[in-house]
Amino acid sequence: MEESALVAKAEKYLKEISNDSISLDNIEEFENFKRLYYKLDDRLNSLQELKESMDAQGYTTPFTSLNKYGTKAIAEVSLEEMSENSRHNQMFRMKANAKKNVLDRVKSAIDAHKIAIGHLEQCGYLKCDSCYKKYSLSEFRLKGEKCSCGHENFSFKINKDATYRLEIIPYLPLSGNYLVLMSELSGYGRNSFKKVLNILKQERKGLVKTISLVIRFRD
Ligand SMILES: [Zn+2]
Repeated sequence: MEESALVAKAEKYLKEISNDSISLDNIEEFENFKRLYYKLDDRLNSLQELKESMDAQGYTTPFTSLNKYGTKAIAEVSLEEMSENSRHNQMFRMKANAKKNVLDRVKSAIDAHKIAIGHLEQCGYLKCDSCYKKYSLSEFRLKGEKCSCGHENFSFKINKDATYRLEIIPYLPLSGNYLVLMSELSGYGRNSFKKVLNILKQERKGLVKTISLVIRFRD
């Protein structure tokens, strides 16, 4: 696909995501739960495909081919050529910036979808009505909604003991809009957010799966 067409395609897709609001109404009913899970899972696959195409087209390092005057020494470059070059470079920089930004948003959208799917996976699971084997939603989908014992009737269960918070899903930067969401935070919120990020960076050695927030207040 042509380079600028890929940027446009990615932007259009992210826009579609941002216009599609997430409903958690009666989410404990399997049809609603499944619809949301499948939607997020499908989108995650599309986003990952987009990212792969972008990686293949060098979006990770869009500025590397910015070479001012080829192999010529500066003294050999005419004024006319220089302004031509600077126009060209300006265009190039704009395009490179667009690529960098859209890739950044696609990556953020991928992470947000993974978080949302992770919460759903923790929350609901399926149990075969015949052999009582348990399936996570991803296994259930992978198996073509069929148990390995051959039966296709399942009961949907909500995991009471696991840690999940489905109510955060509508607030995740699913369309890669994390910068927009950050700009909507108060000064205090932004500072707290930065502190959380720093803590995560310091914990690089291990894999951070959950964070507990402690709020202290004075009477
Ligand atoms: Zn079974």
